Amino acid sequence: MSITVVNHPVVAHYLTHLRDSSTKPALFRTLARKLASLLAFEASRDLRTASLSIQTPLEEMWSPVLDEEIVVVPILRAGLSMLDSIVELFPDVSVGYIGMERDETTAVANSYYCKLPPLQGRTVFVVDPMLATGGTAIRAVRSVREGGAARVCLLCIVAAPEGVRALEAEAPDVHIYTAALDRELNARKFILPGLGDFGDRLYGTG
Ligand code: URA
Repeated sequence: MSITVVNHPVVAHYLTHLRDSSTKPALFRTLARKLASLLAFEASRDLRTASLSIQTPLEEMWSPVLDEEIVVVPILRAGLSMLDSIVELFPDVSVGYIGMERDETTAVANSYYCKLPPLQGRTVFVVDPMLATGGTAIRAVRSVREGGAARVCLLCIVAAPEGVRALEAEAPDVHIYTAALDRELNARKFILPGLGDFGDRLYGTG
């Protein structure tokens, strides 16, 4: 498994405001969308391209176009915050959904919904903004692997070392793209310094 921490001043700027507890849900949603777009941009660096013959206003040329079918799988509910900007970047993607709910006392993830398009041979971006214990990500990755995905990337806005290690042990071929690798989890399995409960801040339900 490998991890790319996207080290860029624009990413750092958006993330600072996302973390800030005074940031209201409307701005929080905007920042999450922008960060998702930047993570997807980084995760798509190695996508296959094909050469297309085109005519510029001045001459003919062969020029690259994307030649890979991508599937995006947001983990409900917080992953939905990252979907729109990725679809904007790749308008032809197929979208699947996995519903996971974290039991607040045990921090164990339970799956309550899974609807996936054909995955055979495809590149799949599983998107979930917070990689905490890794339990949710591991279950989601297992589901897309069972569907035959060729390459699986996990896009998360903040990752905890505990989650990265768990994913490394269970799904060593997954590549993680994140805006930050934070310090640790607290006793309630929240990421420190983190940004709190992502879903609550996104939907103003805290
Ligand atoms: N999920 C969240 O929303 N926040 C955390 O810190 C950990 C998991």
